[in-house]
Amino acid sequence: MKLEKNCALLVIDIQQEDFMEMNESNVDDPRWEVIRNGKRVLDVFRTKKLPVIQIKECHRPDMVDFGRELDGSEGIHCVENRPGNDYAKLTYPIEGEYLISKRRYSAFFATDLEILLKGLGVNTLYMIGGLTDVCIHYTAVDAHQNDYHIYVVTDAVAGSSEEAHESALRAIHYLQRNALVTTADVESTLTDDTAPEDDAFMREAIRLSELAVEHGNEPFGAVLVKNGKIVLTNENQIYTKHDTTFHGEAGLIREFCAQTSITDLHEYTLYSSCEPCFMCSGAIVWVKLGRLVYGASNMDLEAILGNKGCNCSKMVFDNSFWQPQVTEGILREEALEILQKYFGNHQKS
Ligand SMILES: [Zn+2]
Repeated sequence: MKLEKNCALLVIDIQQEDFMEMNESNVDDPRWEVIRNGKRVLDVFRTKKLPVIQIKECHRPDMVDFGRELDGSEGIHCVENRPGNDYAKLTYPIEGEYLISKRRYSAFFATDLEILLKGLGVNTLYMIGGLTDVCIHYTAVDAHQNDYHIYVVTDAVAGSSEEAHESALRAIHYLQRNALVTTADVESTLTDDTAPEDDAFMREAIRLSELAVEHGNEPFGAVLVKNGKIVLTNENQIYTKHDTTFHGEAGLIREFCAQTSITDLHEYTLYSSCEPCFMCSGAIVWVKLGRLVYGASNMDLEAILGNKGCNCSKMVFDNSFWQPQVTEGILREEALEILQKYFGNHQKS
């Protein structure tokens, strides 16, 4: 995964009152896993020097500003002069982080969050904290309705119950199909394994994916590169060749090997507009490809098709004798757009 450009992290309501019993001797306790994950996400944003906005809920001691927040399941919470109202110690704000206090569940409601986001030039929000079904959900909804892109780190948010947590994540996924990410996804962005030419070759793979549709096939393109030069390109040709295995990647590998008699590709990089399927990942193993770069993931594709999906290339590589170096998420949004346009109207064969 790559962090989107112009993003910020919203740390939502990670306040001391929920972590009163947390101390140095029990910090590794399973019950603190969510806040530990939150700290890992926070560390990524701090390392990359990306904006962090720490948000806490607080109410005046005379409770005049609670509004209707006590009508439901919640008791008196987040009162200003109580010690628990401060930010939790593990994720405590550091210099340079922005602080916002809110009176309601949504971080957008009657706060200056939007003014701050405008000033920072931010259009994408990553979220950690709680509760998944209350402040995270309502903030995600308001962000979405204000046209921000949203990513909720699913193992760094906690709900009022496991069931409520899962339901809220489903509701957020309904708003934006790729909105759910994990702490490991965010951490994977720390290893910057991209090469300067990746964008240009991926753009060519995406262009080929569009051409494939024009030629009557499915929207997948692949580009094989050695020493910074394209040696062969291919597009999906399953319909025009009457060959359901003629995918962008597998077709390219077969043709390249046949044309050149080279069957060891450890010095080559393959760019694919979408993550290779099980079959193509297998072909990549057999030719010992050196490096694989892809745009959209199989999970992205399956989400468009309404399926759960899996990280198929990783499953193949992790269980094979050969593992190429893999870079994912290059020009992902552009790659996704082509897939969405096509599979919004067609079923995958
Ligand atoms: Zn394939």
